[in-house]
Amino acid sequence: MNAEIIAVGSELLLGQIANTNAQYISEQLAEAGVNVYYHTTVGDNPVRLKQAIEIARKRADLLIFTGGLGPTKDDLTKETIASSLGTGLSMDGDALESIKAYFIKTNRLMTPNNEKQALILAGSDVLKNEFGMAPGMYIKKEGKSYMLLPGPPSEMRPMFRKYGIPAILHTLKRKEIIYSRVLRFFGIGEAQLETDLEELIDTQTNPTIAPLAGDGEVTLRLTAKHESKDIAGSLLDAVEEKILDLVGEYFYGYDHDSLVEAGMSALKDKGLTLSCAESLTGGLFQSEAASIPGASAVLKGGVVCYQDEVKKRVLSVQESTLKMYSAVSEQCAIELAENVRVLFSSDIGISFTGVAGPDDHYGKKAGTVWVGLAVKNRPAKGFLLNLAGGRNANRKRTAKYGWHYLLKEFT
Ligand code: ATP
Ligand code: MG
Repeated sequence: MNAEIIAVGSELLLGQIANTNAQYISEQLAEAGVNVYYHTTVGDNPVRLKQAIEIARKRADLLIFTGGLGPTKDDLTKETIASSLGTGLSMDGDALESIKAYFIKTNRLMTPNNEKQALILAGSDVLKNEFGMAPGMYIKKEGKSYMLLPGPPSEMRPMFRKYGIPAILHTLKRKEIIYSRVLRFFGIGEAQLETDLEELIDTQTNPTIAPLAGDGEVTLRLTAKHESKDIAGSLLDAVEEKILDLVGEYFYGYDHDSLVEAGMSALKDKGLTLSCAESLTGGLFQSEAASIPGASAVLKGGVVCYQDEVKKRVLSVQESTLKMYSAVSEQCAIELAENVRVLFSSDIGISFTGVAGPDDHYGKKAGTVWVGLAVKNRPAKGFLLNLAGGRNANRKRTAKYGWHYLLKEFT
């Protein structure tokens, strides 16, 4: 089976939004072993949508539409597909009930055009919308399958995962189910990770191992196929163990975990408190810490010590340190980390001082950064980074390294 995704919406063509629905659906289909050969985007125009359907029908077995299922005049996906397939529309009682219930729940008045959302393609299976009103649909006609999904990602994603994928697998009469697990790494480049795992990746067939890099992190998606969930799980466990034997020191979490969450939860579990001295990151690191629910158990506070003056006056960095080594130095990073730890009487002090760029500064190249780490009753340390991004990429990457070093220290 091969699929084509047809995103409907003039706002996509105008560049007002990116077609993240196609990305998501493709990712899910790849995992399910369905090839996607084409992404099509078409505006809210019935003539051009109809042409897109005709073209797609000739080259794909499965056509997946997103967008244009809503109540307004420009929402015409359903009507156009109905006319293209030569089927009618019929009112779906369950969908109508749930739309009425939605209006009661949100205390709003239902207008007649909202009933239109409960119209489905005659003979189609309804895909329930648990996060909005317009139901999705799945229909087979003359050897082709058609799936209609709503535009808003918050409605489309859970619908596709929970009802769409199983419907497709049912059509394929696949008994085996697909299980996947994402392993997340930081502090190692994609090329290095692939080199370290080359043999394993090449010889591995079930599960498969697929590396992906982005945002300074590398992930490996392990995908196992089996009729039994337990067996698929143990296949994943076995290959995960092999991977972690080789590159475990860079591993920090699974699936949608983040470095920040992993770092904060490691400190929380150990009952440790943290304070921060931030120069080039300007509060970014603390802002990330504060984004985690329950952060107050860990994060005591910190200082944005952007100018040398503040490093000296508020965090007692010695004049001689700044003169001899400059603010971008291991010595300064360590003093900042140690002094902020003492000032806030916390267990850990962390500091970031460096040249964000784009210009060189203090006689140091843009991207030169020192991270200082001071832990109560342990010798303080400094870590040197040589980053190659733009100004803000370097600032973000620095904060990530902060979490990385904390994790290495405490897990
Ligand atoms: P609604 O009931 O909200 O009108 P709909 O099914 O009619 O939903 P659209 O009107 O086409 O969908 O789009 C609604 C919103 O969903 C858009 O404004 C946009 O924010 C988002 N959206 C639509 N299509 C996509 C897409 N392909 N990728 C990402 N977001 C999308
Ligand atoms: Mg709409």
